[in-house]
Amino acid sequence: MKRAVVVVCDSLRRDMMTTETTPNLLAVASRSVVFKDFSPVFPSVTRSSSPAIATGCHPVNHGILGSAMVIDEGTGPVCASVGDPDFVDRLRKVRGTVLFRPTISELLQDVGDAKIFSNVSAGAAYLLDPEGYGYVYHRAGSYGPGRKPVPAADRLDIAVGIEGDAEMTRRFCRDVIEGGVVFGTLWLSEPDNAGHNSPLGSPTHIAAIKSADRCVGNVLEAIAVVDPHFTETVLFVCSDHGMNSVRRTIDIAYQLVHSGFKSSYHSDDIVVADSGTSARIHISNSAKDRKQDLINFLNNQDWVDRAFSSDDLHDIGSPSCPGTSIVIAMAGDNVANEYGVSGMSDCAIGPDEVDQQIGVGQHGGAGFGEVQPFLFVRGPNLRASVSEAKVSLVDLAPTILEHLDVKPPRMDGRSLLPIMTRWAV
Ligand SMILES: [Zn+2]
Repeated sequence: MKRAVVVVCDSLRRDMMTTETTPNLLAVASRSVVFKDFSPVFPSVTRSSSPAIATGCHPVNHGILGSAMVIDEGTGPVCASVGDPDFVDRLRKVRGTVLFRPTISELLQDVGDAKIFSNVSAGAAYLLDPEGYGYVYHRAGSYGPGRKPVPAADRLDIAVGIEGDAEMTRRFCRDVIEGGVVFGTLWLSEPDNAGHNSPLGSPTHIAAIKSADRCVGNVLEAIAVVDPHFTETVLFVCSDHGMNSVRRTIDIAYQLVHSGFKSSYHSDDIVVADSGTSARIHISNSAKDRKQDLINFLNNQDWVDRAFSSDDLHDIGSPSCPGTSIVIAMAGDNVANEYGVSGMSDCAIGPDEVDQQIGVGQHGGAGFGEVQPFLFVRGPNLRASVSEAKVSLVDLAPTILEHLDVKPPRMDGRSLLPIMTRWAV
């Protein structure tokens, strides 16, 4: 039985793997095609990355623009957290659909079951299959086809972090690998969870990396039982983005009020949606004539790397998105933290957020460590090798569909199968 398996070690940087910390990941790498030039999407946040994996499209095309999004539910534009369990339902009500493109689970509905286990935010988990074509298991609620809640005994009652990831991995190996499911995704909360709460490279962060590595080892052991020579399984082990260390925090809304662009802190003429080390600024009709001046102002601030009009995103590897938004990549540098991990960024913070600590990890922009996710692909006849090809998160979906003999619809990504070296057969 052909199957595709995706394991995501959220936030793990490719330059943070060592024989001591990640023996299982390096063992997979030694038998896989290792992509040296694998890019995240922009913004480099999990809530935009999970639908990018599911649809094979960049955020502006699948429609999830960051960790938070400005939506109008009839009372004017407000900033909503994409991570909340009810976000997909709110978005569906506002625009009639959640994603603009079909997911892998939808495209596989006539082929077999798709089962997703995720221990990140509820929104990021549900965005892998928001219409419920397959199964999504998450601690905030687990759903089967038609978004029907699964029976109580089948729920995923775990916590975010190392122990929850380990329990979820046991379930994944049993239900997906041993269970003969056609497409399975295991999305670990570590090392992202530890990275957001402790310095990169600190003992806490390293313990979380080791935990993710053990989960990868468990999946390999389970596959070894059902398909020891990978004759029918294609396995993707990857991260969705890396992380930088926070060097400074900036409240963008405060800056815009202070400089006279926004009428008051909670006004809706200009609404800021933060995504860690990037942000999107929504400009209402009443403030349209301030847009170019605002872009000029932002590009003069030392906390901004680049501010773009949303019609002009090609420079950051994204299709353009006509509209009245400004996208900001926050400034940073390649300085190392106290544990020798390079890459620092300014971080956007808002009034409703838990205080972002200086010195811990963050992502969202295009800083040094953020654009260092990893991708290893192991599969039938694929020869272990290092590929220099420029590939991205949006290339997973078309590759998975081609392996499973499903013709993909139009996607931003392309199948990697033709560019990976094969053993002669
Ligand atoms: Zn994160």
